[in-house]
Order: sequence, then structure tokens, then C-alpha cells
Amino acid sequence: MNYKEILEKVMQRVRAEESLGKLATYIPELGNVNPDKLGVHLATVNNFDLGIGDNQEKLSIQSIAKVFSLCLAYKMVGESIWKRVDVEPSGNPFNSLVQLEADNGIPRNPFINAGAIVICDILISKLETPKADFLAFVRDVSDNPKLEFCQKIADSEKSIGYRNVALCNFIKSLGNIENKPEEVLDFYFCLCSLEMTCQELAKAFLFLANGGKKVSDGKEMLTKSETKRINALMQTCGFYDESGEFAFEVGLPGKSGVGGGIVAVYPNNYSIAVWSPKLNPKGNSYKGMMFLEMFTTETEASIF
Ligand code: GLN
Repeated sequence: MNYKEILEKVMQRVRAEESLGKLATYIPELGNVNPDKLGVHLATVNNFDLGIGDNQEKLSIQSIAKVFSLCLAYKMVGESIWKRVDVEPSGNPFNSLVQLEADNGIPRNPFINAGAIVICDILISKLETPKADFLAFVRDVSDNPKLEFCQKIADSEKSIGYRNVALCNFIKSLGNIENKPEEVLDFYFCLCSLEMTCQELAKAFLFLANGGKKVSDGKEMLTKSETKRINALMQTCGFYDESGEFAFEVGLPGKSGVGGGIVAVYPNNYSIAVWSPKLNPKGNSYKGMMFLEMFTTETEASIF
């Protein structure tokens, strides 16, 4: 497969398209990002790695971090994690409150905000120093000791995080949050503020394309069965109420964030990260989805 040629061809086409998306200005600091950024990076399990455009620039990974927090929590507590969060697509926006009451405070899945907040609560209960331990996990999986949170972005989100405050308090009232909501939210905003480049993201997600083992040194981060489950959740819930559309168009498990990043994984083959900050109405990168749709069409390969 000539990935280089395909990446360049798709990049050229996507660059020429007009982006109909909008920046995630509800987090004030994300409104200051250059909307025209466009980067992509591909990393394969055979150690091929190639990026173009703004692939070496940091982006706010936002909800993509929910995959790392889920992996860490799953590794620590095992199958009992599914008593606290379900594994069903929600069919609702990422920050929706509507299903929680009927579901008794058990979020539909770990990728909607409600579910990610419960995962944060689990980690706070289990970890001595949650922020440092979480960062150490992401640095380990990325082979990159330099990764950092962005306090400015975390503070910016905290200043307007009313819906997340509501979600966390509501879940607490229904008995599915153990710690203080302020602590849980502080951790949640912090992990969403993690900054990574497309290159770092593609490399960090490669273990999910490699049966749970890091490609660099073979270290097992998750078992094969756990990896299958994380990928299954990304496939069914990674794009909120657009997860069906992403499966339909792209055909790979993946996860988006309101910073405009998307990472997708092709098991046994590659992981690919795309960044374009303008979002479609469902909160997923407009050009990011377009890029990945064209990429899997051109490569004629997907999990389907
Ligand atoms: N921090 C963001 C929020 O809670 C994450 C949402 C996202 O990336 N979809 O609103």
C-alpha cells in the first residue's frame, strides 16, 4: 500500500474543500485556535510513520483523553468497571443530561461526558496522585515523557463548565460518584486539557491496533480481550450521536475531541490522527471526518 501517495492526495483534496464547521467557542480558550490548521499523522504496526501538514503542532485533545482514562481505569478495576458505566451508544450529544435519570445515574457509555466523569471518579478513588498518575500512564503509552496538561485550557473550561457540573452533581445524587464533585471535575477538566500533536496521538494509540501491546517495546498495556472492548466502544460510541455515521463513512473505531482532533485505529494495521479545529454540529471535526472517509475509501480497507 502506498500510504504516502494516498495521504498526499487526500490532503490536497481536503485542503481545497471549504470547511463548514465552527470552532468550539463554548470553551473560550479553544476559540483562539487558528481555524485553518490541518494535520494528519499515520503510524503503522510495522513501524512506518508519516505525517503531513500541521502534524507536529500541539492540539487540545479534549475527549480523546477519555480513551486513556478508560484504559487506565479498566486496567486497574477490571470487569467491575461496567457496573458503573454501560457500553451502549447513547444516540445523544456528548454533554446530554436526559438519559441519566431514567438510567439511575449509570451513564450509557464511558465516552459521553457523564461516563467519562464517572471514570474520573473511579480513578480518583484508586490513584494516590490522580493527575500525575494519569499523565504517567499517557507518557508511558506514548513513549513521551514530555507530555503535559494545559492549565490555561483547563481553567478556561472550568470557568464555563456548568453542564459538566450539573452532570457530576446529578450522578452524585444518584449514588454513582464517590468523591467530591469539585475534585472529580477538576480532574476531568485537567485530563481534557492534555496537549498532543497528531504524531504523538497516532503513536500513542498504536497499542490499540496491536492487540494491546506497545509496538516500540512490546509492553502489554491491555490484554487482547480488553483491547477488543476498548475498540468496540470507540466504534459504537466514539462519536456520540454521530457514531453510526462515522462507522458508515470511515469504518474504523475512533475517538474525537472538541479541539478538532480525531484518532482512528485499524486493528493489526495502523492508527491515524487528524486535526482540523472546525467542528460539525455534532461536535466532531468537519474536515477530520472528511479526511478519514476519503482515506479509507482510497486505501479500500476498513474493519468492514
Ligand atoms: N472537555 C470537553 C467537555 O466536557 C470535552 C468534550 C469533547 O471533546 N467532546 O465539554
